[in-house]
Amino acid sequence: MQPTAILIAGPEIAAYGFPHGHPFGPDRHDAFMRELERSPCAPRLERRSARPATREEIEYFHTPAYVDRVIAASRAGHGLLDAGDTPAFPGVYEAAANVVGGTLEGLAGIFAGPVPRAFIPIAGLHHAGRDHAAGFCVFNDCGVAIEAARRRHGLARVAYVDIDAHHGDGVFYGFESDPYLAYADVHEDGRYLYPGTGDRGETGRGPAAGTKLNLPMPPGAADGEFMAAFEQVEGYLEAQRPQLILLQCGADSLAGDPITHLAYTEAAHAHAAARLRGLADRYCEGRLLAMGGGGYDRRNLARAWTRVVEALT
Ligand SMILES: [Zn+2]
Repeated sequence: MQPTAILIAGPEIAAYGFPHGHPFGPDRHDAFMRELERSPCAPRLERRSARPATREEIEYFHTPAYVDRVIAASRAGHGLLDAGDTPAFPGVYEAAANVVGGTLEGLAGIFAGPVPRAFIPIAGLHHAGRDHAAGFCVFNDCGVAIEAARRRHGLARVAYVDIDAHHGDGVFYGFESDPYLAYADVHEDGRYLYPGTGDRGETGRGPAAGTKLNLPMPPGAADGEFMAAFEQVEGYLEAQRPQLILLQCGADSLAGDPITHLAYTEAAHAHAAARLRGLADRYCEGRLLAMGGGGYDRRNLARAWTRVVEALT
């Protein structure tokens, strides 16, 4: 059977997770894979492993001083990388570098052809800023991939779409003044959820003022509200005409997630992935890279991400 999408998976990225009952535990990868293997789309995937990103690649987005701090914390094997959500563990640098390298492998696969779509489950670490860790995120693979798409693959216009319950602040503020990154984010209103940002009035700064789309949703919002908001995302992308679409499809926006308050079903994720696939076919020669993102109820993440992969295949 001819593959119709690339899957980046395996122990290299499964190792990215925090110990001692942390919501972002290392069991998330296998919870997803068990569900995916039962899907009729499983034989249509071209499977690849992640590789460690080089330091140079990580520094496409992050500052050298911050990379030094992560290396030191990884060697020490304990302590916190941010104010409290993101603990260091032995090997955290290597695990985080594998996530970045996995996302870059997906991107390279999209450009190498013949399959222009890829999914990586343990990725989409959208809270990490250029010089800091935040919200379970050490290195921001989304930010590195955006920079790599420009520097390596010569794209001028990239779109980043984020449907995780949390605002993608690391990506948003990393490119807030950059008019060439189209940014659309549907998330739980920051008055009720970490990180507290992503107000509708946040549309970019300086040369990028008025170019970004933030759509906060009230707690309890369900599929109907999501799909109405997603129509705005589609209209926005049509106007932006990107050459590549990145999707952060966090599953913590589904009902029952232990740390958020939205109430979508996996139909929301299937809808978003299918609509973005259509837009990618129209404007981007099919190029679509989806990253798992958050999701702390194992059953929810397994189902939502599997529906996304089905839409990509
Ligand atoms: Zn999240």
